[in-house]
Amino acid sequence: MLNIKKINTYKSVVYNDYRQYDSNNCHTGGAYAFFTTFKNIGGGKWVVSYDTTAEFPFCPVCGIFGEHDCSDYDIVTTEELQKEISAKPDTDDEYWTYE
Ligand SMILES: [Zn+2]
Repeated sequence: MLNIKKINTYKSVVYNDYRQYDSNNCHTGGAYAFFTTFKNIGGGKWVVSYDTTAEFPFCPVCGIFGEHDCSDYDIVTTEELQKEISAKPDTDDEYWTYE
């Protein structure tokens, strides 16, 4: 498991979800990839945002499709992020990237 100190050295950590992804249908065809980005804001805190390969309105705050007003991004601690990382081990189509 990545230790807290190591995680805190990254600027951002991204969970990449390609489980439903198909490169021929990844924009409007229903086979999208999804990304959850944890951005390091210091003090052991991370801002959570969401993205997708789909070309439809998508809320980066709550990670669902549709146009609506969301303004408060979730914030998690490094401990919570560490738990997320260990709960979702890397596979061929689901993996974490670190910057
Ligand atoms: Zn939202």
